[in-house]
Amino acid sequence: MLSTARIALNRPLRRLFDYLVPEGLTVKPGQRVKIPFGRQQAIGLVVEIDIEPPAGITLKPIHNALEDWPALPDETFQLLSWASDYYQHPLGECLFTALPPALRRGRPATEKVEDWWQVCGSGVALPANAHKQKTLLDWLAQHEQGAKGSDIIRAGFTRPQLKALSDKELIRAALPANESPQTQHHKETIAAPELSPAQLEAASQLPLPEVGFSASLLYGITGSGKTEIYLHYLKQNLSSKDQALVLVPEINLTPQTVARFQRYFGERILVWHSALNDSERLSAWLKIRNGEPVILIGTRSAVLLPFTSLKALIVDEEHDSSYKQGEGFRYSGRDVAVYRAHLNRCPVILGSATPSLESYHNALGGKYQLIRLEERAGEALPPTISLLDIRSRPLEGGLSRPALQSIRQTLDSGSQALVFVNRRGFAPVMMCFDCGHMVECPRCDTRLTYHRRDRAMRCHHCDYQTAATETCPKCNSEAFKPIGQGTEQTEDILAARFPDTPIVRVDRDSTQRRGSIQNILKQVNSGKPCILVGTQMLAKGHDFPNVTLVVVINADGGLFSVDFRAPEQLIQTLLQVSGRGGRGSKPGKVLVQTCHSDHPLLRTLCHGHYLDMADQLLEEREAGQFPPFRSMAIFRAEADTMEQSLQILDSIKPLVNAPGIEVWGPLPALIARRADRHRAQLVLNTDNRKRLNMLLTNICQTLEGQRFPKGAKWMIDVDPQETG
Ligand code: ADP
Ligand code: ZN
Ligand code: ZN
Repeated sequence: MLSTARIALNRPLRRLFDYLVPEGLTVKPGQRVKIPFGRQQAIGLVVEIDIEPPAGITLKPIHNALEDWPALPDETFQLLSWASDYYQHPLGECLFTALPPALRRGRPATEKVEDWWQVCGSGVALPANAHKQKTLLDWLAQHEQGAKGSDIIRAGFTRPQLKALSDKELIRAALPANESPQTQHHKETIAAPELSPAQLEAASQLPLPEVGFSASLLYGITGSGKTEIYLHYLKQNLSSKDQALVLVPEINLTPQTVARFQRYFGERILVWHSALNDSERLSAWLKIRNGEPVILIGTRSAVLLPFTSLKALIVDEEHDSSYKQGEGFRYSGRDVAVYRAHLNRCPVILGSATPSLESYHNALGGKYQLIRLEERAGEALPPTISLLDIRSRPLEGGLSRPALQSIRQTLDSGSQALVFVNRRGFAPVMMCFDCGHMVECPRCDTRLTYHRRDRAMRCHHCDYQTAATETCPKCNSEAFKPIGQGTEQTEDILAARFPDTPIVRVDRDSTQRRGSIQNILKQVNSGKPCILVGTQMLAKGHDFPNVTLVVVINADGGLFSVDFRAPEQLIQTLLQVSGRGGRGSKPGKVLVQTCHSDHPLLRTLCHGHYLDMADQLLEEREAGQFPPFRSMAIFRAEADTMEQSLQILDSIKPLVNAPGIEVWGPLPALIARRADRHRAQLVLNTDNRKRLNMLLTNICQTLEGQRFPKGAKWMIDVDPQETG
């Protein structure tokens, strides 16, 4: 009898497909195959073999296998199967997430070798009418190192032109020049500095890889030298054959971290992030799959890659919300990393100066080992934080007079200042003081942000934008003014106040271009007096030795939000941004402007001990029956009308019928209309995660077979990060 295989496709379907395995072919789980699918062919991944074929159905045979080894090795396959079940996302899409785009499309799993071309300096003369060939020859002559075939085509030339020149022996194939950072070889590695006694003490508590699975939460205040500890740990514990994974929140924002790893480990360092192109991804993927002893520094999705000899996992800034994918396969890279370490029987280290309440709770409960590092490395001292009450104080660009004075003193003493503004653009609202009109997004329930540099009004929730007007678009009044402040406005005020000081703005608008953050930071790294103005982006992992003053222009945003995570995120951002200051030999000072200087959370902030605040926040979470004390999942619906969205959720609600599972809603989402889609949610909350998981599996299976109005969609989000 012919054998059979069950196959997953890269489609949002909660089902698999059965095929015959033709004679002479053997397949294994995790292997890529080409199959007939409807009238087309599709790329599938084998999930199971030798299944009992369903009776009465004639199965079609697999076309062929794309390679004779599984693209997803055993452990990676198990990890993704677990994640598919835990996050309730279709298995096929989960498995395909672990393949680079080229392999998803069915390309061969080999690196395409790029052709390079160079001028020979000899050959036959070109005929007078060969203008195009002449232009190409001149173009190539300007590239001394030669040029890549694909770049030549991109510059507007053709393959036949290349061939014609090569036939005339005017150009020849060349050896590739090393161009991308991925292929740069840092042969020289340098020794890491000696760890301080406090770092040594912390490092000595980290379990060795031989011991098998362990999860450690390394709580180390900002600037305490956690990165240095990771470097030492890997240096001491990886053999020359081992692989390691270091997850970071957003690699483009922290080029310094990658550079530090490269200095110690040279060409063993490989990076993985969203800015890699398809061939860079394929190349990195193949190295990992082939078991090359790489240390991969990567963002969220790196945790799903097919490592074959992983010996250690590190999750840096483990509290960062970018670890949770916000759409599609909504997994948490941090939590998947912990499960991966468990499957793989190796250690995982979660590091942060502001651990997530989830991880801290796990540490308090003994699931994770808590390691504390509460001194700064080198000579640096923790910054002093003080609140600056701005009720009834005049503000300029959001800055109070004492804050401006402190900036002046900082610059005068030769240091740098950092001003943290939580919004980009010039102002979050434009309002008419005659008729009260506020400019709103026509597609969302939000206001448009004024971007003065581009004279545009932009929606930060969809891609809508329109030209900014001088007067009120409704009544034409000239009393049409910005309310609140964004980075552009603060930058302008500072530029007017400190005309001789460079102002460096860092936000999504100023760093749009790839690599531009490196250039921006060059100016800061020079150490000369300057003022940094920026959003959250500045809070992440940077080391600015000469910044001695941090001003937070408004701390109040997260204090009264409906989202139960908002206070936690506020405190984390405030401490992270505070931690950018005073990292060198000069002490740092942080001024937090607020209208609520008697708020208990902000008062604890001034003592600067994060774990005290975390204890306080955990008590509130427990009293409110929120995670991490309970497990949560959210069904979301979006449709052309709110009625349809609520109807979908209303039809789900009666399916939530297991004991001990609470249901809240359905309710419209905080931003009920986004890009003309009406959104609502139904929240499930329980103390029995297993039961919740089983229930969700059943509900999703039921919903899969149902028809909803055209354009209406439902989604499930397990362990949601955003609950508004
Ligand atoms: P964290 O990751 O905890 O924020 P880093 O590892 O980036 O801290 O260290 C903060 C700063 O202190 C860096 O400039 C780093 O080079 C320096 N540093 C860390 N450990 C040491 C050490 N043992 N001796 C001297 N300088 C150190
Ligand atoms: Zn008006
Ligand atoms: Zn919008």
